[in-house]
Amino acid sequence: MGGVAEQAPEQIRRDVVTACRVLEAAGQADMVWGHVSIRDPDGRGVWLKGSHLGFEEVTEDDVILLSWDGETLEGSAGRHLEYPIHTEIMRRRGDVNAVVHTHPLHAVAFAATGWPLKCLSHEGSHFVPPDIARFTKTGDLVRTPELGKDLADSLGDRLAVLMPHHGITTAGATIGQAVAAATHLERACQIALLAGEHSIPSSDEEALQKRERSARHLEQAWGYLARSVGR
Ligand SMILES: [Zn+2]
Repeated sequence: MGGVAEQAPEQIRRDVVTACRVLEAAGQADMVWGHVSIRDPDGRGVWLKGSHLGFEEVTEDDVILLSWDGETLEGSAGRHLEYPIHTEIMRRRGDVNAVVHTHPLHAVAFAATGWPLKCLSHEGSHFVPPDIARFTKTGDLVRTPELGKDLADSLGDRLAVLMPHHGITTAGATIGQAVAAATHLERACQIALLAGEHSIPSSDEEALQKRERSARHLEQAWGYLARSVGR
């Protein structure tokens, strides 16, 4: 799975739906909330999952193209209120071609503890050290471009940001990296909760050594996750 430069709209729509199926299978569905986007290769904006649909319900026809200001350019499905998460992160980050936002159970519970995230498994090494980024401006919806910019500031140049009292957002060079980052972050948070506050992490040196393989590992995980949902 390469970047978006060579992708036709049909493939982008298909990848958004595959991402939704994978997130559903991974237990990250929260009824009709949570969304996935891919950058438009022609620079018009972002392709976003339509609103009012669960990850298992959405089809290729429910993926819409939004301008950088949130205007619907293609498609008839509704627009998620939190579309600025996607437009503002991709506006700021030229290296990001896909964004995932979900409300995963363990990540939300972990964020509420206030504990630093430690590298306790392979998954953790994608995110720490240093401690994972946190968006603390609000635990409410990110429904304005200003809040989207604040979230992009919190994410910085990293792969993921925890949103305490809300959820997570991940950003990848490819849809595969963004989706696998979401499944890995949820698992890292689940392990952190199981291990508890006084758990013993990998050394920073070991975690960073693992990090060197991060992009390739995430692509391999995505290949498996897509196959596992038959796509
Ligand atoms: Zn949300």
